[in-house]
Amino acid sequence: MSDVPLSRRSFIGAAGAAVAGATLIPETAIAAPYIRRSRPASPVAVASANGIRGVARAIELMGSGTDTLDAAVEGVKIQELDPEDNSVGYGGLPNEEGVVQLDASCMHGPTKRAGAVACLEGIKTPSEIARLVLKYTNHIMLVGRDAQRFALSYGYQVEDLLTPSSREAWLRWRANRGANDDWLNVDGGQEPMGVRVTGTINLNCVNSAGDISSVTTTSGLSWKIPGRVGDSPIIGAGQYTDNDIGAAGSTGRGESNIMVCGGFLTVEFMRQGMHPKDACLATLKRVVEKTPPRLLRPDGRPNFGLNFYAVNKKGEYGGASFTGGRYAVADERGARLEDLAALYS
Ligand code: ASP
Repeated sequence: MSDVPLSRRSFIGAAGAAVAGATLIPETAIAAPYIRRSRPASPVAVASANGIRGVARAIELMGSGTDTLDAAVEGVKIQELDPEDNSVGYGGLPNEEGVVQLDASCMHGPTKRAGAVACLEGIKTPSEIARLVLKYTNHIMLVGRDAQRFALSYGYQVEDLLTPSSREAWLRWRANRGANDDWLNVDGGQEPMGVRVTGTINLNCVNSAGDISSVTTTSGLSWKIPGRVGDSPIIGAGQYTDNDIGAAGSTGRGESNIMVCGGFLTVEFMRQGMHPKDACLATLKRVVEKTPPRLLRPDGRPNFGLNFYAVNKKGEYGGASFTGGRYAVADERGARLEDLAALYS
């Protein structure tokens, strides 16, 4: 009988019976998860700590009606264009050959679209190019020289992304990278392959209508092998948005994030009802479980850094790392840095 399609008449009858019967069903049994019915009173943006100016800009723009993705991109562009920030866009630290290669991705919740670029050279604002991929193509990711060609078609110019200070940092690294190579060591230089400078900006935001977007942009790991692509441009790793649930993104060791699809996983934990902070902590726990021994210290903790940031449709937010730190938040109380939850006390 269930194979027989309902006639219009019997469908209306069935629907009527369902409505009549609904009063007999306890409300808790039919209620949608609270998160789906809620929206923030005013826009909320969360980002890595370097995004403190970005979150302020994003909520200002969302407050005056700007779309969430445009607000997020305008927020991270402040960092991309800042020559003093050596982890993102212009002035980002280069790969081992001295070439700045940039990665970025974004998602727009309301239209269920995504865009990304990887290994992009010579363009200061990869977040904008990722948004162009999202808006004007049937694809999600463009890479390398063709991503650059795509940017040029929209009027972007190829520029030298090294600043005097990022070039100086690279020259110093090259001079000191090995004791037996042909580059003479520079006194007081950095240890060969010592501390790897990393940095990225991830920004996630929700407006007062409950629409959500996210963006992540980076110059990646300093002194990386040319062509290396991190987590930032990977949809579901560097950032992820589901307009029914929330958005999440990451900074830190990209390879470890890719292994757990951390942006997606954090949103999935929120879908299960977790608060954004707990979702970020749960993702970090998964990272530890999936970390190979060579990346663990003797006490079992990872020997790298990785942070997650998240906001849900209701405007609740959180962030977490292994050992604490700060992240940027902006809402009706203004822009500020708050403490990340720590997986290890
Ligand atoms: N996640 C970035 C990458 O792996 C780097 C960072 O955030 O420090 O490329």
